[in-house]
Amino acid sequence: MSKGGIIARLPKVDLHCHLDGSIRTATILDLAKKQNYRLPASTVEELRPYVRVPLDCKSLGDFLKRFEVFYPLLTNSSAMERIAYELLRDCSAENVKYLEMRFAPVLQRTGELSIPEVTEAVIKGVLRGEKEFSIKCGIILCLYRSTSLEDSMETARCAVKYRKERVCGIDIAGDETRYPLDDFVKPVEFCKKEGINITIHAGEASGPQNIRKAVEMGADRIGHGISLIKDRKLMEEVASRQIPLEICLTSNVHTQVVEDYDRHPVRDFIKSGVKVTLNTDDRGVSGIDLTYEYEKALGLGISLEELGRIIEAGAESAFLGGIEKETLRNWIANEVNNLI
Ligand SMILES: [Zn+2]
Repeated sequence: MSKGGIIARLPKVDLHCHLDGSIRTATILDLAKKQNYRLPASTVEELRPYVRVPLDCKSLGDFLKRFEVFYPLLTNSSAMERIAYELLRDCSAENVKYLEMRFAPVLQRTGELSIPEVTEAVIKGVLRGEKEFSIKCGIILCLYRSTSLEDSMETARCAVKYRKERVCGIDIAGDETRYPLDDFVKPVEFCKKEGINITIHAGEASGPQNIRKAVEMGADRIGHGISLIKDRKLMEEVASRQIPLEICLTSNVHTQVVEDYDRHPVRDFIKSGVKVTLNTDDRGVSGIDLTYEYEKALGLGISLEELGRIIEAGAESAFLGGIEKETLRNWIANEVNNLI
C-alpha cells in the first residue's frame, strides 16, 4: 500500500481542535442567510479568502482577522449545535476515531444565551454526530484569557456540571503574551479538585516560563508547548513526566510561532522522549485536516512507525476514564499495527 493509502486508512486521534476555527465556509454562508447577516461575499468561492488563510499564510494578524468575519454568527445555539455536528461528520470522513473539540462558551454568551446554554447546544450536536458517524468525541471548555475571573469560574463550574455529558476537560486559551496564568489558578484548582482534566495553551506565543507555570498548575497536557525547545531542563522534566504536547504543525506556521515547517521542533521533541501528539487546531481557518498534518509530519522526516506511535500517544493522552481509555488505546494500537 502507498504511504498516502496507509495515511488515509490509519485511525486518527485529534485532541486539539477548536470548534469555531473548524467551521465550514458553506456553513458560514448559510448561517448568514438565515440570520440576515451581511458578509463580504455571497458565494463559497468568493467568501473563502475572507474566512480561510492561504496555505502559505505567515501572519498571526491575518489568521485572527478571519475569525472576525464569521464570529457574530455563532452567538446562537442552533448554529453551535450545527457546527459541532458538522465537525464530527468532517472528522469521521477522514477516519478520526476520537476527537476532543474545544471552545470558549463565554465568547458565545449574550443577554439571551448563557454559558451553560451554549455548552448544551454543542453537546446536542456532538451526541447527534456520534449516533450517525463512527466517531467518539469529548468536549473541552476553554477559559478565555481576556475575560473575567467570574467568567472563568462559571465556565469551570459548567465543565463539572456537564462532565457526564461528554465534557471531559478545561483549557486556557487566548493571548498568552498579555494575560498571566496566575489569573487562572483559582478555576484550575477548582477543576483539579473536582477531577476535571486540564490542558493549557502554553509556550505557543510566549516563552518556556508559561509552560513551567502550566506544569506547576497541574496541566495534564500542554497545548503547543513549542518554546519548550528553549529550556532543555524543562524539556527533560516534561519528557520524564510524560506530559503530552498537543502539536499542531500548520497552525504554528500560519501564526508564525515557527518560521516554516522545517524549523518546527517536533523532531527534537520526539528524539528527547517528549510525548508528542499531532492535531489540527483550526481546520476551517487553516484549510487543513489531520490527513494533511500527518503528511506534513512524514515530509519532515518522521517515519510511518513514529507516526503510528504518535497516534497511539494521542489515544493514551485522551481525557477519558479508565476502561474507556483502555478500550480506545487497545483498539487504536491494534489498527495501527495492522497497517504499519
Ligand atoms: Zn489552540
